[in-house]
Amino acid sequence: MLPISITRAAELKKKPQDESKLGFGHYFTDHMFLMDYEEGRGWYNARIVPYADFALDPASMVLHYGQAIFEGSKCYRTPDGGLQLFRPEANLARMTRSAQRMCMPALDEETALEGLKELIRLEADWVPHSPGTSLYIRPTMISMDVHLGVHASKTYLFFIILSPVGSYYKDGLKPVGIYVEDQYVRAVRGGTGFTKCAGNYAASILAGDIAEKKGYSQVLWLDGVEQKYIEEVGSMNMMFAYGNRIVTPALNGSILPGITRDSILTLARQLGYETEETRLPIADIFADAKSGKLTEAFGTGTAAVISPVGKLCWENDEVIIGNGDIGPVSQKLYDTLTGIQYGRLPDENHWCMRL
Ligand SMILES: *Cc1c(COP(=O)(O)O)cnc(C)c1O
Repeated sequence: MLPISITRAAELKKKPQDESKLGFGHYFTDHMFLMDYEEGRGWYNARIVPYADFALDPASMVLHYGQAIFEGSKCYRTPDGGLQLFRPEANLARMTRSAQRMCMPALDEETALEGLKELIRLEADWVPHSPGTSLYIRPTMISMDVHLGVHASKTYLFFIILSPVGSYYKDGLKPVGIYVEDQYVRAVRGGTGFTKCAGNYAASILAGDIAEKKGYSQVLWLDGVEQKYIEEVGSMNMMFAYGNRIVTPALNGSILPGITRDSILTLARQLGYETEETRLPIADIFADAKSGKLTEAFGTGTAAVISPVGKLCWENDEVIIGNGDIGPVSQKLYDTLTGIQYGRLPDENHWCMRL
């Protein structure tokens, strides 16, 4: 592990006073963690410094060829006032898998984790207190060579920034309407769908914009070859409940292997639900929603944990799922996972890391 130097900010920012108005990704804390990479030398200069702008040469490769990957996780405040991370090693390991696909160097996960813990200890006062709030963690890696020409950069910057975020649900779990995209695709076999690379999100913005203008909150992506099988939602994996049976698309290389997805599948089995990872034709799901066989649908991801889907639009047809309200399976899984993350329920799977 690298030594980590700490330079404290001379002046601290004014923290947002009203935690009900935090929103998502609007505020950033006083410090950030950085480390550099150079081919032949490896990772070096791990440091915590005051949060500030970067100076980037206009020819920096990341600005042209987009070698950029990120992660997202959260730090939670427990009832006794303590702080804990949820499965942080899983996020860093996933970042290394993203890096490999993008021809970027494997992360020094040990130093990154220690840097994250140090950074959060320094910023502990930034972790909000109200129910449902948390400190969002955004690790990012970008290519830094100053050079034009498409090949792997030899230098990289890794950084972690922190953002206090509000409760996703101010008035309880509210189901959302989802637009099934049948023109654009997010990922294809052999592509980058399983990585959190910036380009995946750049390519998704147009479809998201169109869906929003039609009154839906997110896009549901279908497979990139036949556009027949369900993949996932913008930044969430999808699950469908038929009574006590939960089905979700299998990890096929084009969907993002969500840590919330994995946690929810594990908890679901422990709670006695039946789970299945398989290929899900949109036509079947849509028909089952119409007939009432499909009882619930929900997205899983770090930001919302569980986001119930009340309505699907596909090929100019709309269907209400269940009765359009949050169902018992979604509610139970949401209560269980958030209970563990906030330290209100026992953590039998040893997912939480106390700071
Ligand atoms: C981040 C993300 C998810 C959810 O992953 P978690 O680890 O559960 O937060 C799902 N799909 C996409 C496309 C994502 O970017």
